[in-house]
Amino acid sequence: MTRPTPRESITLMTGYHSPQIDVDVRLNTNESPEPPPGGFAEAVAEQVLAIDWNRYPDRSATKLRARIGANYGLPGEQVFVANGSNEVLQTLLLTFAGPGRTSAVFEPTYALHSHLSRVTGTTLVEGERANDFSIDLAEVERVMIEHRPDVLFLCSPNNPTGIVDAPATIRAVLDMVTATGGLLCVDEAYGQFSDFSAVDLLGNDTPLVVSRTYSKTWAMAAVRLGYLLAPDWIVTELEKVVLPYHLDAMTQVAGTVALDHLDAMTARVARLVEERGRLMARLADLPLDVWPSGANFILIRPTCRDGNAVWQGLVDRSVLVRNCATWPRLDGCLRITIGTPEEDDRLLAALTEVLT
Ligand SMILES: *Cc1c(COP(=O)(O)O)cnc(C)c1O
Repeated sequence: MTRPTPRESITLMTGYHSPQIDVDVRLNTNESPEPPPGGFAEAVAEQVLAIDWNRYPDRSATKLRARIGANYGLPGEQVFVANGSNEVLQTLLLTFAGPGRTSAVFEPTYALHSHLSRVTGTTLVEGERANDFSIDLAEVERVMIEHRPDVLFLCSPNNPTGIVDAPATIRAVLDMVTATGGLLCVDEAYGQFSDFSAVDLLGNDTPLVVSRTYSKTWAMAAVRLGYLLAPDWIVTELEKVVLPYHLDAMTQVAGTVALDHLDAMTARVARLVEERGRLMARLADLPLDVWPSGANFILIRPTCRDGNAVWQGLVDRSVLVRNCATWPRLDGCLRITIGTPEEDDRLLAALTEVLT
């Protein structure tokens, strides 16, 4: 037998993996260090018992979308929901990009934007960020003029750098995208941890979508649920592409119940932002480059030792962070998720040992 081969672009792929190593302190995938608030799981369980298991779920997730939209003063028709924001982004690319079309990213940024572009057969253009990892508008202009991308991704706060794009930058990029008939997607997976949101720029005649997720802020990475806020005509197109009944009844229930606990979720974000400040101050005392962060993680680069060796030294002390040391443009860098104060103290102790 000659084994059937996947498309060439897929053969070349390595996939997207964060090693799942068994350690005491897991600070590698930007999850919330705390479980959801008390009463959440019980309320979900109660509603799960009431599901009509023999029936398909509400195909348009009407209740969930209305509840999410209400938090932003938007109708449910302007909310698209899917199994994690990764499925949201994939659906966006399948609908507005794909074969014969182009997407643009500015590296270094979230690996899934380029990965999903390749998976969907989209031609990918990789622009560069400035040396401080901010968006360079001259570079965006160059990419716009040379490639006229159909979909342009920004990520703010950016993963893995933590940098928040200035509102004026996002507005300027939006103007350029509007002028060429493209679509701007701002990935705000960490939006709740920063001060500015592109949600304020949404408008019915504005080619802008903003994606968010339950995985980080909402302490719900185990439930795969993400969403996108957009003009309703964009949501209508996405609904045509996504698989029928893609969002199961349990996910819809969990996502809706979570919104009953908004205050507790907001308090979690505030605690993490405070802890971020404490960790940042402590990291400043170590031989590291540290980047400012508007997210629930911090990017560092050891200045006295090789990043891979530091990563391994931390693993040996049962602390797992994300190793970005071999990623393009992130030579020697590590990304640390903000944990509980106890977890972060363990990280600091281990890091101090490894570095000194
Ligand atoms: C974690 C993350 C996501 C989330 O993906 P989910 O599929 O919702 O878990 C999306 N975008 C960025 C930038 C992320 O870091």
